[in-house]
Amino acid sequence: MADFTPHDELNVYQAAAARFEIASKMLGLEDGLYRFLRYPDKEITVYIPVMLDSGRLEVFIGHRVHHSRVRGPCKGGIRFSPEVTLDEIRALAAEMTWKCAVVNIPFGGAKGGVVCDPSKLSQAELERITRRYTAELTEWFGPESDVPAPDLGTNEQTMAWVMDTYSMHQRRTVTSVVTGKPVEMGGSRGRREATGRGLLLCCERALAHLGLSRDHTRVIVQGFGNVGSVAASLMHAAGYRIVGVADIHGGLYNENGFDVPKVEEWARQQRKPLADFPGGGTRMSAQDVLFQPCDIVVPAAVENQITRANVSRLQARILCEGANGPTTAYADEELDRKGVFVIPDILANAGGVTVSYFEWVQDRQGLFWRESEVIERLKDVMEHSFDEVVRYAEAHRVSNRIAAYMLAIDRVAFVLKLRGIYA
Ligand code: NAD
Repeated sequence: MADFTPHDELNVYQAAAARFEIASKMLGLEDGLYRFLRYPDKEITVYIPVMLDSGRLEVFIGHRVHHSRVRGPCKGGIRFSPEVTLDEIRALAAEMTWKCAVVNIPFGGAKGGVVCDPSKLSQAELERITRRYTAELTEWFGPESDVPAPDLGTNEQTMAWVMDTYSMHQRRTVTSVVTGKPVEMGGSRGRREATGRGLLLCCERALAHLGLSRDHTRVIVQGFGNVGSVAASLMHAAGYRIVGVADIHGGLYNENGFDVPKVEEWARQQRKPLADFPGGGTRMSAQDVLFQPCDIVVPAAVENQITRANVSRLQARILCEGANGPTTAYADEELDRKGVFVIPDILANAGGVTVSYFEWVQDRQGLFWRESEVIERLKDVMEHSFDEVVRYAEAHRVSNRIAAYMLAIDRVAFVLKLRGIYA
């Protein structure tokens, strides 16, 4: 087994690989299984010819990687971003395998992406890219083989186009080929709030585990998009005091707590920068807000926010990772030393993929659940998964993060052994 240390602290893919290495060593994973799980099942690059609105023919590069289908169909988002690389998609596909295994839903991991800048493309151009990408991958996609979802730069509308294109090729409507669709065409109630709700459920569990009371627990949330704004609103409604918020334009800290519905109205409805919110608070950078006094910090924006250089400044007792990869592998050790209770991304933000699984189930049943049913089932999955990770960490004397990876790798390896290697 290779001794893997990330050379570049800010390379999230190296960070994920480093954690996989540590967890597989701790597990004593057999060499053959280690090799099997270290690499993806298959990967494809497609060249997507698209006629731009200007009449110019452009070719976009797209990828799809299946990391594992050991436990079920591959599951993972499609991102549209100029930064997409095959290496990135490969690493994110593996993370999906571990995330699905941590919450014990019957999916493997996949990821896809197209190198393009959605902010510079019209809706019609985005639609043509999506349809051609889907058409090229129509043999890969399918409810039993690979089920995409939205990710960076894609949304419900993109998923509607994927579903329609796939269905046209199949000559029948197949709603269960994608998740994250509009509710009107087979999406699940509660999907939009699922990731933020999962964060709240994890924090509730963490407080109970640590014997802390929820009332007036001070929370800082960095990122006020789909994940951060929902987490902040639900936590505020549950009685937490939201003392710090931030978006890409900057951060605000107010020890008395924010009126979150008003912040929501300002930033989400009126689309104004959070830092200009007139309801009080000290302005600072979006990163500095993470290091202000609080009990829980929820990075829910981008990767690499807590690093070797700044981890010593963290004041929170609980770190609940809404974003993917907000903490570098180099910061892990210091977090342990400081005794910060970490709820790692592959557990904390798994509420989204869990309700995606519910969407897939509902589509296949043709029977749709009430929102309260979705919430109840999500609660069940998140609480159970949280307890399993924490128990595993205690039993093996490892951090929650390494425990989550160990639990996931162990689950996949167990099924792999049962299935055996074909031919
Ligand atoms: P989003 O685009 O809706 O929101 C992102 C937010 O982060 C915005 O408020 C933006 O202003 C802010 N932001 C961007 N760059 C920032 C920076 N440098 N500093 C501070 N704030 C910054 O995205 P989202 O769907 O809320 O996803 C946020 C994170 O959660 C991502 O890492 C994503 O991969 C992860 N995630 C999302 C889901 C989901 O269901 N949406 C599920 C799992 C994980």
